Amino acid sequence: MLGLMQDWPLTVDKILDHAARWHGEVEIVSRSVEGPIVRTTYAQAHERARRLSGALAGLGVKPGDRIATLAWNTARHLEAWYAIMGMGAVCHTLNPRLFADQLCYIINHAEDKIIFTDLTFVPTLIEHRAKMPTVKHFVVMTDEAHMAAAAGLEGAVCFETLVAGGSPDVAWGGFDENTACGLCYTSGTTGNPKGVLYSHRSNFLHTLVTLASDVMGFSARDTILPVVPMFHANAWGIAFSAPAVGAKLVMPGAKLDGASVYELLESERVTFSAAVPTVWQMLLSELRDKQAKLSTLKRVVIGGSAVPEAIVRGFRDEFGVDVTHAWGMTEMSPLGTLSAPNQATLGLDPEGQVRLKLKQGRAPLGVDMEIEDDADHPLPHDGKTFGRLKVKGPFIAREYFKGEGGRILDDHGFFDTGDVATIDEAGFMQITDRAKDVIKSGGEWISSIEIENLAVGHPKAAIAAVIGAAHPKWDERPVLLVKLKEGETASKEEFLSFLEGKIAKWWMPDDVVFVDDIPLGATGKIDKKLIRDRMKAYVLPTAQPAKESA
Ligand code: AMP
Repeated sequence: MLGLMQDWPLTVDKILDHAARWHGEVEIVSRSVEGPIVRTTYAQAHERARRLSGALAGLGVKPGDRIATLAWNTARHLEAWYAIMGMGAVCHTLNPRLFADQLCYIINHAEDKIIFTDLTFVPTLIEHRAKMPTVKHFVVMTDEAHMAAAAGLEGAVCFETLVAGGSPDVAWGGFDENTACGLCYTSGTTGNPKGVLYSHRSNFLHTLVTLASDVMGFSARDTILPVVPMFHANAWGIAFSAPAVGAKLVMPGAKLDGASVYELLESERVTFSAAVPTVWQMLLSELRDKQAKLSTLKRVVIGGSAVPEAIVRGFRDEFGVDVTHAWGMTEMSPLGTLSAPNQATLGLDPEGQVRLKLKQGRAPLGVDMEIEDDADHPLPHDGKTFGRLKVKGPFIAREYFKGEGGRILDDHGFFDTGDVATIDEAGFMQITDRAKDVIKSGGEWISSIEIENLAVGHPKAAIAAVIGAAHPKWDERPVLLVKLKEGETASKEEFLSFLEGKIAKWWMPDDVVFVDDIPLGATGKIDKKLIRDRMKAYVLPTAQPAKESA
């Protein structure tokens, strides 16, 4: 027997419809790429997105076509998202931090018809235009007054002209909730990037889940600044969840340095923000340099890579801001776990609370997770045993676009995240490594991330990375690479004795190498693949103190 409730397909156009109808006057504030701060409202965004849909239809866009965006977080980018998704086309977010060749690969693989671009990226597009044969138009996200900058881009049209000329009477929504809605390629640290194809339903469900108070917990009283870019992992869903509750949105545009973020946090009275750890590191040092305070910010969600302890303590002790640690991935829409306390951890003292926040956290409704060994057997949730982290749920990928990479679910329907993790008795997951970065020493695993996190706590360290180096007896042994802070000098022994007692003896790096640079990839994570390439000729020193104890 079927239920007798209304059929109301879960499509994301309804999110902007709702925001315009019930929170129409709420502002979207953007630092525009041209410079000035621009103020619009949800009602205006709705009207403009519909006009843009109409204009896209006029350019020949059909449902299912892939329309890309290469853009910063601004109101125009938000309007483009809804215009594309609202008419049933697929919004493909391009990450401008990728190398041009990778960008071209992705554009061709997706067969993008149109690319929305900020002025910032026009020179790159002009240079590589010939390598994007499927692209018919470039919508430059500016007004006519600034179009001269795009003169050399064949197929360029002006965003504001399209909006002004488009009819709002378009087919908007009204399709199946399983219709494809967004496309985002994974960073591709192994092989070519692969496309994750979100549906309206998966984005809608992800939005509802993120609104729970243990997840993002937004309300209509919030002012939200997503530093996390719309071009990477859906801005953690904020372009959907903020309008879903009618929160004020503050879009930072192209300026993501500490001073610019601080200026917006204060001038717009922001209560919530989300970003990767590096952004917060820059902000905290800006605040300390200027002896500034955060007068309205209450909560930040930090993820994308592990949150260093110094950030959790800095925010809490110096600025009274609560940190929630989040873990997720493009394939998960992207939120997977968050570190809000539960009944089992309520009684923890302030120190215990900090330790809890260093874990990646618990799974909300809609995410099931398990840790398993290589034979797919579940491992104990004791906070110590680590294994492959697998996930399952309605906003998690079941295959990649065009079937790239073949079958990606195991026999039980779980997706292997490629992360290695523990789960404790209270249900808190902690990432110990990427499966391919874990160091295999004498048949046992050593977590490179755990050593890195400790090493970066050394007062002279700016950034640290740990990789495995080939070893004749143990297979691999850890090597610690350290980039020192400006003007510092240090010895290998200083770092080894700093680690002593904090990790098992057999985890102690066999060597410490001081380097000028630790490369970061396009999504801000340490690029271990590049480090391993650079260290190809490296040979472990013959004397290896950790060898006997390993
Ligand atoms: P992406 O799909 O580019 O967002 O990358 C997802 C990957 O980033 C995950 O599989 C993790 O390896 C890593 N990651 C994301 N959040 C965290 C976190 N809080 N701590 C450690 N690693 C993380």
